[in-house]
Formats: sequence, structure tokens, C-alpha cells
Amino acid sequence: MTIDLDIALNAELDPIVDVAAGLGLAQEDIVPYGWTKAKVPIDVLDRAAESNTDGKLILVTAMSPTPAGEGKTTTSIGLADGLNELARSKPEVGKAILALREPSMGPVFGMKGGAAGGGYAQVVPMEDINLHFTGDFAAIAAANNLAVTMLDNHIHHGNELDVDVRRIHIRRVVDLNDRELRGVVVGLGGINGGVPREDAFDIVVASEVMAVFCLSTSLTDLKERLGRIVLAHSRTREPITVSDIGAAGAMTALLRNALSPNLVQSLEHSPAFIHGGPFANIAHGCNSLLATRAAMTLGDWTVTEAGFGADLGAEKFLDIKCRTAGIWPSAVVVVATLRALKYHGGVEVKDVQTPNTEAILGGMVNLEHHCDNLLNIYGLTPVVCFNRFPTDTDEEMAAAISHLRSKGISAVESTHWADGGKGALALAEAVVEAAGGAGNAGAAVDDGSFFVGGVASGDAEAPAAGSSAPGPQGQYSYELDRPLEEKIRTIAQRIYSAADVDLPTKVKRKLKQFTDEGYGDAPICIAKTQYSLSTDASLRGAPKDHIIAVKDVRLSAGAGFVVVIAGDIMTMPGLPKVPSALTIDVTEDGNITGLF
Ligand code: ADP
Ligand code: MG
Repeated sequence: MTIDLDIALNAELDPIVDVAAGLGLAQEDIVPYGWTKAKVPIDVLDRAAESNTDGKLILVTAMSPTPAGEGKTTTSIGLADGLNELARSKPEVGKAILALREPSMGPVFGMKGGAAGGGYAQVVPMEDINLHFTGDFAAIAAANNLAVTMLDNHIHHGNELDVDVRRIHIRRVVDLNDRELRGVVVGLGGINGGVPREDAFDIVVASEVMAVFCLSTSLTDLKERLGRIVLAHSRTREPITVSDIGAAGAMTALLRNALSPNLVQSLEHSPAFIHGGPFANIAHGCNSLLATRAAMTLGDWTVTEAGFGADLGAEKFLDIKCRTAGIWPSAVVVVATLRALKYHGGVEVKDVQTPNTEAILGGMVNLEHHCDNLLNIYGLTPVVCFNRFPTDTDEEMAAAISHLRSKGISAVESTHWADGGKGALALAEAVVEAAGGAGNAGAAVDDGSFFVGGVASGDAEAPAAGSSAPGPQGQYSYELDRPLEEKIRTIAQRIYSAADVDLPTKVKRKLKQFTDEGYGDAPICIAKTQYSLSTDASLRGAPKDHIIAVKDVRLSAGAGFVVVIAGDIMTMPGLPKVPSALTIDVTEDGNITGLF
């Protein structure tokens, strides 16, 4: 059970100053957190951006997953190591850097396993990355909770803004799975204990402050976005923002150091920026924009991951994050596993380790649906990576690969989990080919600045991906200047193959309200199950003509998107009966044990 930790603890890490030096950063350019972690300040990255061309961006996404996860993080790390391994024999390939999310401690103490990769494809020091890391999430929690505290304080001291205590949207947060906090009553301390009200807690990664943190381009942008967060509505239904209660400055002060991306390394010393980690349902689910920027500025290849399957993760990455940042990938890796194919081919989770080529071919409709979307809607070349598990057979693997190749889809097997970067050489070569070859091609919008900034214009045409990869221009899946309702329907029909969306009157009224408040041009962030292309987790494969039933919509004015809730979204998870916290321990000399 502890194999991941054993591998990680036995790894020889390079001093972080050496990792930074490999990126052209001097010792004084970084802020070390011990010997193996550092923050790279934003002004250092700004300076580096002036003299560097941006490298190619590779997005790692997946087919619709099984509950076990199909290995996007592990594959991202394997691919970066594979590209750097390839560059040892072919120097023209250049340097690959990772941009990944920071793990939340909720799942670390729960059951999911770490978010730092696995086997021989890990980022290290994994025990630090999984537990507190450089303290970013604590800063985000403090900033969020400061806003709530100031709001409650405002109400306690007379409530000049006429806050309706039944219409408070912001919640306090902790970075633990604590189901007791899903519903609470606060303010029970008598006359000096505040104003009693019904409240709830969320996990840190579900907070809008986290989403804002991950989309911000600078401290100024962060402060402006935080200021726009709608905390509550007044009794006359006016929005009350962070700016209105005067918290934006102090919140930004708390986040000042956290906003600088964290630099670590993989087991094979590939540089890795690990920074920010928003939920992939009610938020956009990828690492901070600044970390992606850092990697693109300093490397020839940036390998980054977007949460869940391509219908959720890649869609939001492309339509929200890339549009905000003015970046565009040069190729997309779709992680697939034989077990997930079997699951979509009708096999139950407990039986997916039994060889079954027929079910694999039956489940291909799901994988092909995601690949078709990437190619036909976004104009991006998919590379399917079969993340090989120990129980996979050669016969099944050969059948899966030849099926896809017969359809003209690039597909390779990769054994990075077992073999590290050497096991991902075929994947690296396929990615270089799909991205139009090696070389620093500049995938950012060439308008002199890296960022378009804020919510971008209504132009649906995405930036060209890499000048060495001529071909059709990329496209977003919808245009921002269309009505909110139409944008939701477009995603449902184009990405999920739904017949239509069902929007209750209450939802339509809220959409009208958001439009009246000036947010009609915002992108859409759909929260639905990751297990199906539909909103019914039990519909496997590639269901067609289903209805996307929207339960609610919420405005994330700071993050700059409208969240569409089409499922039961848990923003405060609980621990299982036997949580992994039971096995985590520390020895007398300070070594962590029992972590995965
Ligand atoms: P995702 O990012 O898609 O959620 P991860 O990369 O975090 O998935 O992997 C989920 C879990 O599966 C991790 O515990 C990881 O160690 C394990 N895993 C990933 N790939 C393999 C593999 N090829 N063989 C065995 N275990 C794997
Ligand atoms: Mg992951």
C-alpha cells in the first residue's frame, strides 16, 4: 500500500536552486521553502516573459473516468519525464515543465490517494505536496474566512447594507472532509455573539476565492476579482460584494505570497509548478493561470492537467481558462485505461480486471466521443494514451490500439507508472508529432502581452496553436456574446450530445438577473457528474439525446463565470468508514509513513 511513498522517499532530489538554474533562474530569483521547494515571484516571471518565447502547451485530459481515476496526473508527470528523456537523445525537442494542481487534504485523509502522481511518475517531495505544501490553501482559507467574518461583523454592528441573512452565499471553509459542517447555525453566543443564522462550510477547493486565485494574472487582478465576489444579497435583492464590505485589500494581503507559483520536481527532475487547485465541477478544475504561464515562459513544453473527463475538464480548460489567458494547446492527450473502457462497455467495477476485449471495444464509444469533440469542435489533435495497469494484457492492449488507429486516431500505450519517463517515450514522440514537431513555437496570443486579461471578448476564434503547426484555427465551443441560456444549451448539445436542456422557471429568472447585473457575457461552468456524458451517472458509453436538467445557477462574479448545477454537487465531502488518516503517521525522526 505504501509503494508510492517508498519510491518517493528513496528518490534523490536535486536541490531546488539547481532545478531553478535549469530554467535560467538565479538563486536570488526564487524564494526557497527548504531545500526542495521554492516559490517563484510573479515579477521574476514577468521579467522572464519579456525575453522568452512561449513554449507549446499540452493538455492532459481523459475519457469519462471510473471512480478510481484513470491516471491524468500520473500520465502528465510521465509525459513531462518522457519528453525530457526524449530530449536526451534529440536535444531539439527541448525542455518540458509540468503545471499541476495542489492536492487538497480532504481526499488525502479520505480515500482517493494523493494527487502527486503514482509509481515512478510522481512529483516530490510528495509527502510535503500532499500535506500543507507551502501553505497556499491555508492562505486561501484565511482570505475566504476573513470575508465571511467581515460580513458577519457588518451585520452585527448595525447592518447598514441591509444584508439579508437568508441570502448569504459565501461560506466559511476548511481543507478537510468534515461532513458535520455541511449545515450549522452560527452566532449562538448571545447578545455579543453576532447575529444567529443558518450557515454551512465548504472545503477550501470549492471556494470562489480558490477559483479567483487560479484565474488571476497579477496581484492587482486578484484584488479586483476578489472585490467582485458577491457575498450576499440585500433585502431589496441588491448584490453585496467583497468591495462593499471593504475586504479586498486585506484578503489580497493574505494571498500575497501564496500567489507566486510553487516550484518542485518530478522523480526524474523535470521541473514542476504546482499551484492552486479548484474543484472541477463548480469551478474550472485546473492549476493557476500563473503556474501555466510560468511553465510556458520558462520551458519549450508545458504539460498540464484538467480535472475529470474531457467533457468537463477540457471543455472548461479551453472555454474558460484558455480564453481568459489567451493561450491554446498544441495537442491534447486523452488518458484512457482498459478498465474504464470495460466499464463503459458494460462491465461492473469489481470485474474490470478480468480480460474482456469485447467489452473494451464496446466502451470505445465513450473515448471516441471525447476525441471527436476535441478534433471537430476545438480543432485540436487528440493523442490517446493508454495508461497501462499491471493487470492489463498485451492482447487487450493491442486490440484497443489497433481499433483507434483504424479510425485515424493516434494511440499509444504508456508504462510511466512502472517505468518512469522511459516508459513514456512513445507517448512523448506521439505528442511531439501531434503538436507539429519540436521547437519553441509560441502558443500564446501574440499581442505583445501574455494575457488578454479579464473576461475576453465575444470572439469565438481561439488563438492559433503554435506557428510550426499550421492548420485550422482552434475554436471555442461557444461564443461569449450569446445569451447565457443559449451558451448552456450549446455546451449540452455540442459537448454532451444532449437533445436539450431543461431550465426551470427559477433558473431562467436567475439567468435574467445575472444578465441584468451585467454578467451576460460570462463563460459557463457546468457542474455535473464526471462518470457519464449525461447527468445520469449510470448512463455509460456515449448516450445520445438525453436531457440536461439544470437544478440551479450561481454567479461566480470574481472568477467571472456562471456556474450551472446539473447534478448533486458535494462541496463538503465526508470521510469513509476507514479513512486513510488511520494509517498516516510520523516517526521519531520526522519521516511520514502510511501515505498511500
Ligand atoms: P487522476 O489524476 O486522473 O485522478 P491519478 O494520476 O491521480 O489520476 O491516479 C489515480 C490513482 O491511480 C493514483 O493512486 C495512482 O497512483 C494510480 N495509478 C495511476 N496510474 C497507474 C498505473 N498505470 N498502474 C497502477 N496504478 C496507477
Ligand atoms: Mg489528478
